[in-house]
Amino acid sequence: MQQDGANNTNFGRIVVLPATFAGSPYHMNQLYQDSMALVRKFGKPDLFITMTCNPNWPKILHELRPGEEANDRPDLTSRVFNMKLNALLKNLLQNGVLGTAVADIHVVEWQKRGLPHGHILIILRSQDKPSDNNDYDRIMCAELPDKSTHPELYNIVTSRMLHGPCRALHPSCPCMVNGACSKGYPKIFQPQTKDSTGNYPTYRRRDDGSTFTHPT
Ligand SMILES: [Zn+2]
Repeated sequence: MQQDGANNTNFGRIVVLPATFAGSPYHMNQLYQDSMALVRKFGKPDLFITMTCNPNWPKILHELRPGEEANDRPDLTSRVFNMKLNALLKNLLQNGVLGTAVADIHVVEWQKRGLPHGHILIILRSQDKPSDNNDYDRIMCAELPDKSTHPELYNIVTSRMLHGPCRALHPSCPCMVNGACSKGYPKIFQPQTKDSTGNYPTYRRRDDGSTFTHPT
């Protein structure tokens, strides 16, 4: 006997996307299992690198039509991002600029309808693994680049990579919790990187007089 609501034969068909369909649950699960297998064989990753699409890259700006912003053109931003991501991966994996990689994993994600960004995990061969604070400082830097010797880098860092302003200058900044910056900014000056075991290292931030003032 057929009851109301008990007949679901008209609700379409179940389609199971195979692992060969990029982005399907089976595909993602396979990638996850592969990643875990890499860690079992080679150990934990040494480098976690994030690359974000910059909506002001000239290659993007040149192709926008009047009135368009980068957010309006996922076809364009994803292509330019992919080219630049491949160039970065070539430097990291083929040219070994941060050491010789024995295994790597990367994924590209989108922030809602926003811009693509890539997360890259790299496992280095044993002799290239960062082991002390000098190794950390060789690989990464949390200081302002020198404005006179590296003006382009200085401009990129100060326009894209600084936290804030928050605290008294911008109390409604999303980082503010109970009147304090939840990310711990401004960081204290630190003559040398300190490895805080089980936590993030406290990176070198020398008090060398270099400053940057946010344009108002
Ligand atoms: Zn903050």
